Amino acid sequence: TRVLGIEGTAWAASAAVFDSGTTDVFIETDAYQPESGGIHPREAAEHMHDAVPQVVEQALAHARKTHDGPPEETPVDAVAFSQGPGLGPCLRTVGTAARALSQALDVPLVGVNHMVAHLEIGRHTSGFDSPVCLNASGANAHLLAYRNGRYRVLGETMDTGVGNAIDKFTRHVGWSHPGGPKVEAAAKDGEYVALPYVVKGMDFSFSGIMSAAKQQYDDGTPVEDVCYSLQENIFGMLTEVSERALSLTGSDELVLGGGVGQNARLREMLEAMCTQRGAAFHAPEPRFLRDNAGMIAVLGAKMYEAGDTLALEDSRVDPDFRPDQVPVTWRADEPD
Ligand code: ATP
Repeated sequence: TRVLGIEGTAWAASAAVFDSGTTDVFIETDAYQPESGGIHPREAAEHMHDAVPQVVEQALAHARKTHDGPPEETPVDAVAFSQGPGLGPCLRTVGTAARALSQALDVPLVGVNHMVAHLEIGRHTSGFDSPVCLNASGANAHLLAYRNGRYRVLGETMDTGVGNAIDKFTRHVGWSHPGGPKVEAAAKDGEYVALPYVVKGMDFSFSGIMSAAKQQYDDGTPVEDVCYSLQENIFGMLTEVSERALSLTGSDELVLGGGVGQNARLREMLEAMCTQRGAAFHAPEPRFLRDNAGMIAVLGAKMYEAGDTLALEDSRVDPDFRPDQVPVTWRADEPD
């Protein structure tokens, strides 16, 4: 099966080709970089509008070049796209492009939940059977585990996503977007100062810690110390709930998803926790962690093979599309 995937929930205008007969995933991404501040939904949608046709054209050229059949044959079996969650104006642009492409190529359309794709790419690259997934991305933060035909949300942020929380602090400090890598670099020279740590059962919150971090910075605490402490607390919280999710489900496999998963300190903490409990830990390579169409194409291929395609009238995008709304059609049910 060969699927062309299109991703466009926020900043990444991305297209990919995945061939389930090989391990090859071709990804072409054009990133939106805000001139100032964070992601502006209207500007991000304009970027999608300008960049999606080009990345799709490059993915199609790759598909044609690597296609074995006769040249007049369509080089992919389906078009998959990120149906949500994400910024409405971006999603609508990408949805329109995906519908047009599936009609032009005369192949089925597959609607992929972006958060489930973050999980499934980790399952795909690790070979794990039924892992718990920590999705640590820009606009989201949650723990997922499979049970009876759905990915259940075991715990989640009660306010902002983890990357967005970090980016809010760096905006306050005057650093350019995205803030995560800058906090990671500054944290290397920092020492611990007290910041809030908020975990309630399986849920957690970042708003108090972000306000306290801004206050510390305004009060003259060295920015390196604030960055270091932010990472220790935020990633400590995510590690604590990940451990609780492993314990609750009895799973001994953890995968990481999302752009914040590129952070070495987060990976180190999760790895240490997993080692201590005899669990296996897997973080996909960075190109599969940050938003990318590769994960849309990989899950799109599994869905296509399961016959999980979309009629045009069901292809509306959903900015609030939750992972537990998705009937998991592509994997055999686990024994209880
Ligand atoms: P979502 O998947 O929820 O739609 P998103 O579209 O915002 O999220 P991602 O690509 O998953 O995008 O993640 C982007 C976020 O990752 C940004 O907030 C950025 O600051 C953060 N990030 C990137 N690199 C690092 C890093 N090294 N450390 C911490 N955070 C990072």
